Amino acid sequence: MPRASLTASLIARGFDRSHAIPFERGARVWCSQCEALCINGVPCHERGCPNIVPTCRECGGLDPERTCCREDS
Ligand SMILES: [Zn+2]
Ligand SMILES: [Zn+2]
Repeated sequence: MPRASLTASLIARGFDRSHAIPFERGARVWCSQCEALCINGVPCHERGCPNIVPTCRECGGLDPERTCCREDS
């Protein structure tokens, strides 16, 4: 994955201060609202961070409206 889109995906997940690291494969995870960490390669906000973006339990995608994979019919 190109570095630019990795950073963009981090920002989409609420890590609004994330930026690519020159000469390294990856990006620094950074959130303006908490001490965001990368745990086992997975970027995580601290509990209760207002920047947390909900994710879908079904497909794991971003689900800010909580409408993804809804069982409505
Ligand atoms: Zn955060
Ligand atoms: Zn889904």
